[in-house]
Amino acid sequence: MSTSMLDVAGVLVSPDHYIDGERVPSEERFELFSPIDQRLLGQVAAGQPAHVEQAIAAAERAFPAWSAMSAAERLPYLDRFAEEIGRRADAFCTLESNDAGVLLSRMRHGVVPRAMLNIRWFAEHALGLQERPIDTQQAHHRVRHDPAGVVVIITPWNAPLMLSTWKLGPALAAGNTCILKPPEWAPLTCSLLADAAHAAGLPPGVFNVVQGIGATTGAQLVSDPRIARVSFTGSVPTARRIAQAAGANLVPCSLELGGKSPFIVLEDADIDAAAATGALMYRNAGQVCLAGTRFLVHERVAERFIAAMRTTVDGLCVGDPRGEATEVGPIIHPRQVERVLGFIDRAVAGGAQVLWGGQPHPFGAQYVQPTMLTGLSQDDEIVQNEVFGPVLTLQTFASDDEAVAMANGTDYGLGGVCYGDTAHAIAVADRVRTGFIWINSFGIRDLAAPFGGIKRSGIGREGGDWSFEFFCDVKDVVVPKKPFRPSFSHR
Ligand code: NAD
Repeated sequence: MSTSMLDVAGVLVSPDHYIDGERVPSEERFELFSPIDQRLLGQVAAGQPAHVEQAIAAAERAFPAWSAMSAAERLPYLDRFAEEIGRRADAFCTLESNDAGVLLSRMRHGVVPRAMLNIRWFAEHALGLQERPIDTQQAHHRVRHDPAGVVVIITPWNAPLMLSTWKLGPALAAGNTCILKPPEWAPLTCSLLADAAHAAGLPPGVFNVVQGIGATTGAQLVSDPRIARVSFTGSVPTARRIAQAAGANLVPCSLELGGKSPFIVLEDADIDAAAATGALMYRNAGQVCLAGTRFLVHERVAERFIAAMRTTVDGLCVGDPRGEATEVGPIIHPRQVERVLGFIDRAVAGGAQVLWGGQPHPFGAQYVQPTMLTGLSQDDEIVQNEVFGPVLTLQTFASDDEAVAMANGTDYGLGGVCYGDTAHAIAVADRVRTGFIWINSFGIRDLAAPFGGIKRSGIGREGGDWSFEFFCDVKDVVVPKKPFRPSFSHR
């Protein structure tokens, strides 16, 4: 018997798990609050070992039939799944702006269309996946990409709908069955995804949602030996725990983690363009893994750059994410607000200067002013560690070599931005050790392109073929071209 629905700003959403094609309630629940104004949104199911067991068993039961279908047979299911997401567009927007604080306008124009595309694009691209022949003199190799099995998907609170569909798309299209563990600070759009999957007619057990707390429900899921893959996006400390748990069973993990990416402004950059892009780093209140949060600016253009960026930042509208004009919304949780302000306080106590911001924002308890700190050295805490809030740092450099050394001088290596004359910017970018880097631009993400980080920013790549490689077992079926003659001396 399912629990009563939550009413979030007029949108009804289930607080229960979704297992084997049905809503499954839980006696244990956790409270969910909105970052907008700290109001209680409701109580959400907190997965217990029995729910984890039920979900794994359901996904295992569904696997033989789902994996035996061809990609062409799975395509209509996933097409309908995308369509059902689109049908619920307004509800997805309302839910994620209320529980995660994401701008309503960004949900409408960016996230929901992208979530649909995440499902559709991989479903279509799986058509060319199943067999890739290799012909040699000796043999014909039928290289198959077989679905791996039951996949556990764990996503963070800053972009739950985008990141869940980014993983579900390729996992399902390749023929795996999935268990999604949503983030406990923003679990509602993942619950609505289950409604969309249900309405699309996905067979029971193909897609399951187990709500709950990471340290308990998540930990149980990733340590189960029946799991074939863990696809995780989140923080470095959690990744270490997941890698240990999955490693004990030799289960492959894909880990998309934090960043401390450089935003390099070369002397020959278009300063106004760089400054306008720079202000985008406050998007989602800076709670974006791929943001370029460390500004490295050539000393001869630093003053002009700071003035240009200050003008843009002064005009930013901080406030309720549901407002059409809002550009910077709230921080997800009081604990995260404390963490962000703690970073600022310690940096200032250590001698950093505040170029702008530096304080809580008067709009509300979970809002922080867009902040820029300078007067820092490379080994300062705030230069080395991900803040995950609207707090940026600015350092200057005198040569390309110095810029590259500073860019590479942290343990992270997720992304980067480089503004300058295009050839010059590419030459510098090629020397930055990172998973990706944008030249005179920011945030361009094509589904076919690889996405992921190096060093502490993660292991593995997502996107296009890289996603399929992860979610599949590669098998080579070798058919000799001439009759095979058994011989002990043959290699
Ligand atoms: P988090 O690591 O605290 O939580 C992420 C998810 O892991 C949540 O669903 C949580 O419930 C679950 N979890 C927690 N402990 C677990 C455990 N022991 N076993 C299994 N699951 C567990 O991260 P967060 O605070 O939700 O997200 C912010 C972090 O995510 C930042 O570091 C950010 O940079 C990173 N991030 C990375 C990317 C990327 O693509 N590289 C994208 C978005 C966010």
